[in-house]
Amino acid sequence: MQVFYTDQFVLPLPSGHRFPMGKYRLLRDRLAAELPEIRLVPAEPASEGQLALVHAPGYIQAIGDGSVDPKILREIGFPWSLAMAERARRSVGATIAACRAALREGVAANIAGGTHHAYPDRGGGFCVFNDAAVAARLMQAEARRGLRVAIVDLDVHQGNGTAHIFRDDPTVFTLSLHGQKNFPFRKEPGDLDVDLPDGTGDEAYLQALERALDELGHRFDPGLVIYLAGADPHEGDRLGRLKLTWDGLEARDRRVFDWAWQRGLPLAFAMAGGYGHRIEDTVQVQVNTFAVALGYARRWQNRPR
Ligand SMILES: [Zn+2]
Repeated sequence: MQVFYTDQFVLPLPSGHRFPMGKYRLLRDRLAAELPEIRLVPAEPASEGQLALVHAPGYIQAIGDGSVDPKILREIGFPWSLAMAERARRSVGATIAACRAALREGVAANIAGGTHHAYPDRGGGFCVFNDAAVAARLMQAEARRGLRVAIVDLDVHQGNGTAHIFRDDPTVFTLSLHGQKNFPFRKEPGDLDVDLPDGTGDEAYLQALERALDELGHRFDPGLVIYLAGADPHEGDRLGRLKLTWDGLEARDRRVFDWAWQRGLPLAFAMAGGYGHRIEDTVQVQVNTFAVALGYARRWQNRPR
């Protein structure tokens, strides 16, 4: 299974900044040490033309040269730097590469990405560009005419940027399960939104996921799944407000992969959010997702053709 990374581009953050930038490197090190079947590949940056499938040229330019509106930068939550701009483009490139690899090999991943709060002309909530949206549009342009893409967003925060981008696009289905009282406080209607109350635990979450996937399967027939496997529904998360255990999150991942398997669908996944009180807990959730994904990769390799 190919996994694309960008953590060699570390975004310089002021000390005490609440974004856990170090988690990506920790995760890559653990994957390299514990899951040797994973092939770790550095990601190329997305081109301006690729970004422009979703993003406004003026916004792409402003992120590139640092002229971005200070108000938008505040919404993003990162100070601008050349490294920040480069990292944002590479993170989109990693999801693009993961989608291409998934279409060939069944499953692949971006070790970062899942930046679902980014709109065409502005970022927000630690998101600069919307990687899943750009990758979905690009796969439709280059992989197969008429390719339909389901974005299954299980980060604890609503994928407001993604929902907005595909609001009037019947070829991309946006599903989001998220905390009702959590950021973003003004949600954008997606194709299927599931609001979860604070404190939701494994059982209620998995039931809600089951119903949502069922409905997705009835309403839409995708050729590719992009899965945002956010670690922030975990009970140890500082921002998540939900109470999923390690086991609950692993069952969540299994359910998504099984659902795709039953339909013979290639699946690319990205990390999205994770803000554990202990960064190691966030990384553990993500390592578990990769272990489930490897099982999927093996099934895909061994499937009858
Ligand atoms: Zn999140």
